[in-house]
Amino acid sequence: MAITPTFSARPRVLVVGGGYVGLYTAFNLQKKIAKFGGIVTLVDPLPYMTYQPFLPEVAGGNIEARHAVVSHRKHLKETELIQGSVTSIDHENRTAVIAPVDGGAPFELPYHDVVMAAGAVTRTFPIKGLAESGIGLKTIEEAVALRNQVLSLIEQASTATDPAVRARALTFVVVGGGFAGIETIAELEDMARAAVKLNNRVEQSELRFVLVEAMGRIMPEVTEKQALWVVDHLRSRGMEVLLNTSLDNAEGKGIKLINLPDKSVAQEFDADTLIWTAGVMANPMVRSTDFPIEPRGRVSVNANLQITGEFGVIPNAWAAGDVAAVPDVTGGLPDGTCVPNAQHALRQAKRLAKNLWASRFNKPMKGYKHKNLGAVAGFGEWKGVAKIMGIQLKGPLAWVAHRGYHGLAMPTVERKFRVIMDWFVAMFAGRDLAQLEFLDNPRKAFVTAATPAPKPAAKPAEVPAAPASEAPAAKPAEAKVEKKEEATAK
Ligand SMILES: Cc1cc2nc3c(=O)[nH]c(=O)nc-3n(C[C@H](O)[C@H](O)[C@H](O)COP(=O)(O)OP(=O)(O)OC[C@H]3O[C@@H](n4cnc5c(N)ncnc54)[C@H](O)[C@@H]3O)c2cc1C
Repeated sequence: MAITPTFSARPRVLVVGGGYVGLYTAFNLQKKIAKFGGIVTLVDPLPYMTYQPFLPEVAGGNIEARHAVVSHRKHLKETELIQGSVTSIDHENRTAVIAPVDGGAPFELPYHDVVMAAGAVTRTFPIKGLAESGIGLKTIEEAVALRNQVLSLIEQASTATDPAVRARALTFVVVGGGFAGIETIAELEDMARAAVKLNNRVEQSELRFVLVEAMGRIMPEVTEKQALWVVDHLRSRGMEVLLNTSLDNAEGKGIKLINLPDKSVAQEFDADTLIWTAGVMANPMVRSTDFPIEPRGRVSVNANLQITGEFGVIPNAWAAGDVAAVPDVTGGLPDGTCVPNAQHALRQAKRLAKNLWASRFNKPMKGYKHKNLGAVAGFGEWKGVAKIMGIQLKGPLAWVAHRGYHGLAMPTVERKFRVIMDWFVAMFAGRDLAQLEFLDNPRKAFVTAATPAPKPAAKPAEVPAAPASEAPAAKPAEAKVEKKEEATAK
């Protein structure tokens, strides 16, 4: 019998998305709203908030994947949680349509206030083969898959005898030289080198890491001098950093790179791994609402984080984080809005919750103002770069600053503790290099066990034995492996 879910009839603050903004807004409002007879409802297809700055370290095996996410159910005990996607909003009639994550029938949910917190999605370009061959780094699932893929390809290459197959498996391409791309290539390279150390059938020199950046420099968040240092640092570790270069084609595992701006071919080679970290854009779900959208696809808000339109403030509508164009009175992007980052998202959420609450009692609201503190990035163990309140750091000091900052910024004491313990254990035991196989087909072993073996076929008529000259020789792969092991033993 189908069970129809019943949701609260209390006046609702509907939070669309449970990332940084959603988690902190709901957390700061849930008790107050409940006390006055209302309810906070958070809708997200995921049952957790993802601490995205940790994705490169999850991919690199330094942080356990579950520790980089925060369970909504555990930390939002007084919030009504719905696992699903908001597919459209009719603010004029104060209703949202929700598609449950289990594929059930979409339903309408009424609300009093709405908080748009659906973040950003990976921004791609129409490059042939990209959708089929590429992977992003925006979700915990992608980070887990990348880690397993890199480790798995090293294993596969170690038993392959065809040099082209080995080269393709051991070539890793990252497109996008922003923070996410640089941290990702650096963490993966560190992990791959540690994995190859344990595998005497693969040489370190066979690993190839290629960073592709369309601009003339990487990491706009740090100074030009620091960015140059990062390029030198990556190159000193054997990584190829290609500036003013763009991905032109990625069909069938082939990578074609072109020089910008003359569009001449820069390089063509094969790679099994293509990681796309070339930027994000506001979640396109905002286009299915009746809120006005600014040129970059975000909802416009004023400094109080209220959604605004042609005729001023739209009552009971709020937004913050990557999905919103929030004015930055301290600078920010060239259009005068905040850079989409976690630093802003977290602080905006806290301000939004206070302002929404103040608006209930017609109390004065405060405008959002935060001067960016800078940026910290980790490039694998004891390596990093940072610019904190104008102070430039690099190497081990920057790496310590990176860990210190993110260790403290990770939401909830419980999660902080788990991540710090991961780092502590890794310091003594090294990176966790255990790869998990068959995650996309976990029933494989059971299906094999539960499927009856086919009945043996009737005994074939006896075939005369082949003469010795026609007998199959030892498999070349095995022969090569034995030979390499002998060499290693010497
Ligand atoms: C790899 C990586 C590294 C980063 N490193 C840093 C860093 O070092 N420092 C820094 O400051 N920032 C960093 N950022 C940026 C930072 O993570 C984002 O700016 C921040 O997460 C934005 O918060 P948000 O709440 O707006 O969006 P998000 O945290 O992305 O949350 C959006 C939520 O909305 C949900 N959602 C999406 N569509 C719907 C829908 N239709 N209905 C309901 N829910 C929906 C999503 O599932 C998600 O949970 C990094 C980002 C990435 C990808």
